[in-house]
Amino acid sequence: MKSRSLHTTDVLVIGGGLAGERCAMEAAAEGLEVTILSLVPPRRSHSCAAQGGMQAALGNCVKGEGDNPDWHFLDTVRGSDWGADQEVARMFVDEAPRAVRELAHFGVPWTRVRPGNNDYFVKGEPVVIREAEENAGLLMHRDFGGTAKWRTCYASAGTGHAILYAIDSEVIRLGIDVWDRCEALALIHENGRCWGAIARSLRTGELTAVLANATVIATGGYGRIYGKYTTNATINYGSGAAIAFETGVVPLGNMEAVQFHPTGLWPSGILVTEGCRGDGGHLLNRELERFMVQREPEKQELASRDVVSRHMMDQIQNGNGAESGYGPHLWLDLRHLGAEHLHQKLREVVDICRDFAGIDPAQSMIPVRPTQHYSMGGIRVNKDGQAYGMAGLFAAGEAACWDMHGFNRLGGNSLAETIVAGRLVGRSVAAFARREKLDTGTALARRFLDACEADIAAWLARTGDGPRIYAIQSRMAEIMINKVGIFRNGPDLEQAVSELQDCLHDCGHAVLHSKGPGMNPELSDALRLQGMIRLAITIASGALARTESRGAHFRRDFPLRDDRHWLKRTLARWPADTTSPRLSYEPVGLIDLPPGHRGYGKAEWIELGKSLEEYNQSVGTLQDAEGRLASEEPQGSRMSWGAWKSVATTTGTSK
Ligand SMILES: Cc1cc2nc3c(=O)[nH]c(=O)nc-3n(C[C@H](O)[C@H](O)[C@H](O)COP(=O)(O)OP(=O)(O)OC[C@H]3O[C@@H](n4cnc5c(N)ncnc54)[C@H](O)[C@@H]3O)c2cc1C
Repeated sequence: MKSRSLHTTDVLVIGGGLAGERCAMEAAAEGLEVTILSLVPPRRSHSCAAQGGMQAALGNCVKGEGDNPDWHFLDTVRGSDWGADQEVARMFVDEAPRAVRELAHFGVPWTRVRPGNNDYFVKGEPVVIREAEENAGLLMHRDFGGTAKWRTCYASAGTGHAILYAIDSEVIRLGIDVWDRCEALALIHENGRCWGAIARSLRTGELTAVLANATVIATGGYGRIYGKYTTNATINYGSGAAIAFETGVVPLGNMEAVQFHPTGLWPSGILVTEGCRGDGGHLLNRELERFMVQREPEKQELASRDVVSRHMMDQIQNGNGAESGYGPHLWLDLRHLGAEHLHQKLREVVDICRDFAGIDPAQSMIPVRPTQHYSMGGIRVNKDGQAYGMAGLFAAGEAACWDMHGFNRLGGNSLAETIVAGRLVGRSVAAFARREKLDTGTALARRFLDACEADIAAWLARTGDGPRIYAIQSRMAEIMINKVGIFRNGPDLEQAVSELQDCLHDCGHAVLHSKGPGMNPELSDALRLQGMIRLAITIASGALARTESRGAHFRRDFPLRDDRHWLKRTLARWPADTTSPRLSYEPVGLIDLPPGHRGYGKAEWIELGKSLEEYNQSVGTLQDAEGRLASEEPQGSRMSWGAWKSVATTTGTSK
């Protein structure tokens, strides 16, 4: 068997989840040759695990009446705690309705409006909602956290599964070349131009230099740096972000923005969807008290995830958690929804509770605890999805910082992002691949092949009694959950950075027990480990530097959002041969909706201290200085200035 080879393609897509596949479809539909790499067969990508639904402002049901993209924009920017790029948020909300309808066309079995009387629980009270006959069969919505309207379209509680199977069928129909069980180890690049990646077969160990005119990273989130304290699949290593980082040129954006989901099943960490609370589920403490009613009288259990997670951790830290052999937790109570509702609209939750906790949620309360869930940060890209600082490299989906989520993603906005961004970025990728020539020699490919081979050989050759990689991995996870979790503070973060740097150092003399060069999970994990630790150090460093609280980033020592100093996005680059990232900052983007109160959580913040006109004036120049490449349309061309005014009411106080 050959141990190395060369392959060329117009477009290389690294990642076979929803974002990668939707992007690949767009390029293939333009007649380009596309190759997808995936760690697993695409249908097993993490997108398959998404449960609760996908947001799109269709306004099809009574509780969604009057909904439109302006409401969705308002909710998304408020949800982000003003950390989002508002132009991207605007593009997203305008495109989401089309994305959801397109998916229906691809065969997604959306849950539909059932006319007549429907039973629900809203703010703890049973209500009967009568849906109109003329809406029968339209896409139904459920309530989700941080939204003004019922907007989340869903397929029971298996939305990601339904969408991924439909999209993957399109990929097969288009004849796109998929290399599954194949991992990108490094990008091939030179002088700020990306020319593909080095791929390693996880079955044989063979290395292939895939030379591509355009390369897309769509490798999802990095939840596994939190070890077992995550809802993410075991393949979520963040290796796409790590290989972009390794170029030293491409920055990662807002890595300190890490989302915790309120309801991870305890102790396994498997997600129990927000749809449960959307459908009327209650959070209870050890006294079986609905603490969210008092803490957030307006939104109650349906405040945004960062806010609910903090209230839950407060309960636990104040001794109000229920005890278990694995530590304290809270309860999610769905019993009042009834078995029929659970089996029809939250079917997968019933399965998960049965299979992973041995309980029936129609009969028993579900033990839950906030758990790491989503990566708002990622490869920083312009609005076309093109990475800062490197032509020919794009990113989409959870691996990217596009950045419509800012410091807190709303539930249902990620599935929608994968499809909307997949389509828009796919279009830019196709335009780029048509316009530019694949113009590089094999010498460059050989250089990167040699470097990957040398790295593998070094891991396999090392002997002695150095540390095991799994011990280092666990240490990293414990540091992250204990010091870089929901509540953060300066001294803990400083310690975290230093301890993570020790972990990075330990990788240099860690020893593998399995020495096979081919199918060898220990070797594969070893090849990912340093990249994961660099991401972890970057999260902790960004969090330490950001002396404010915004969305999911909460500093006990700096509890207020500080728009005067921190209405900006962190950019991190990893220079060669260092143990810490270089941080810089850029404005969050053009601002249309002025910073204010989100409608839940703290109603105090530190004001911007200048006019929006002044802020907006310098955005383009400052972002260009940070490596932003020009987009197809000029910055600001997709804004709908002031459109949100037709729906907004702003409350709260500033300092
Ligand atoms: C349990 C759970 C439930 C969720 N529910 C919802 C929901 O209801 N609504 C919502 O909006 N969001 C939800 N989310 C979030 C949402 O599912 C994800 O953010 C989204 O699906 C990510 O899609 P993606 O295409 O970016 O990445 P993924 O689906 O994670 O795909 C990543 C792909 O990259 C491949 N890959 C990774 N590294 C490499 C590499 N180095 N080389 C080659 N291939 C690689 C993988 O094999 C995979 O194919 C949920 C998340 C979780 C954890």
